[in-house]
Amino acid sequence: MKKRILLLAGGQSGEHEVSLMSARSVLAALPVDQFDVTPVVISKEGRWLPPTQTLHALETGEAATGGDLVLHRAASAEGYDAVFPILHGPMGEDGTVQGLLTLAGIPFVGSGVLGSAVSMDKVMTKQVLASAGIPQVRWALAIRRGWQQTPDAVREQAAALGYPLFVKPANLGSSVGISKVSGPGELDQALELAFSLDRRVILEAMTSHRPRELEVGVLGNDAPVASPVGELSFDAEFYDYETKYTEGRATMHIPALVPAEVAARARDLALQAFRALDCAGLARVDFFYVEATGELLLNEVNTMPGFTTTSMYPKLLEAAGLSYSDLVTRLVELALEQR
Ligand code: ATP
Ligand code: MG
Ligand code: MG
Ligand code: MG
Repeated sequence: MKKRILLLAGGQSGEHEVSLMSARSVLAALPVDQFDVTPVVISKEGRWLPPTQTLHALETGEAATGGDLVLHRAASAEGYDAVFPILHGPMGEDGTVQGLLTLAGIPFVGSGVLGSAVSMDKVMTKQVLASAGIPQVRWALAIRRGWQQTPDAVREQAAALGYPLFVKPANLGSSVGISKVSGPGELDQALELAFSLDRRVILEAMTSHRPRELEVGVLGNDAPVASPVGELSFDAEFYDYETKYTEGRATMHIPALVPAEVAARARDLALQAFRALDCAGLARVDFFYVEATGELLLNEVNTMPGFTTTSMYPKLLEAAGLSYSDLVTRLVELALEQR
């Protein structure tokens, strides 16, 4: 019998549009002889849109207002064998939707509550990975809204890290809200932007030299495997939103042209991080490689990485021998495994 799959897309985060792009590709690739797929777009207001509005949103990229409250819909998700939450960022990739589906007793693709929540939050990720001995950039504890740190104290933290530094909302993706700050004069504006998107903000030292950016795909539950290593090159200050999503701005290199020892280290660290963070199903683990010093620093773990047919994660798994359509099928199988 065909498996009934609920495909969730859109969502309330700053990555709503990116999610719609990913979802279109997944929807087109789930083999129709095996799966009966129902897409539901979640509007930016957090409402689950009915079929016609969902199709409109997938076609145009614009989600209408209206729809049902999430809790009304969760119960009706019961008729499905599995959910594919192709949602990026908060209220989707961060354990919230995963908690809802766990309560409803429906298997789903990807990490559970713990792995999703810890991997989404850059501060928590860094703390867990530090305790696992995984090399990372220096960083300062999130300054939390409401902690009432004086602006001077924040400036001191920043000065201790040294400029340029990165200011990021702790829980986001697609570089939304991230600033590269070249001196104290730009700090306030960067903090204001990050705090407008999150109550937790992280300051990160920049790598000693401009890094090369390597990414590894991980697939599996209890016996995860690492893909070949990919690299992104681009002509911009850093890999920002525009560079990520404007056609032709970034180039993907698979496999990355790095020494075999570096690639092996990246794959090993990716698997270590996947386990340390209690991830499941899939993750894309991103690294900074400083060629001059040989340093390989783990930047972050994305538990629901960009998933269009040209996105890095599916391309990495393709290099490992799995076509896009085999990959989405495998992910549903992994969701249905006991874990
Ligand atoms: P994603 O879309 O992969 O989820 P994100 O929004 O979580 O991304 P990061 O990966 O943390 O953001 O940072 C975005 C980009 O900013 C990196 O790919 C890199 O180009 C640059 N960057 C971030 N932090 C640093 C750092 N500490 N040193 C050097 N470059 C950095
Ligand atoms: Mg990220
Ligand atoms: Mg991300
Ligand atoms: Mg990233």
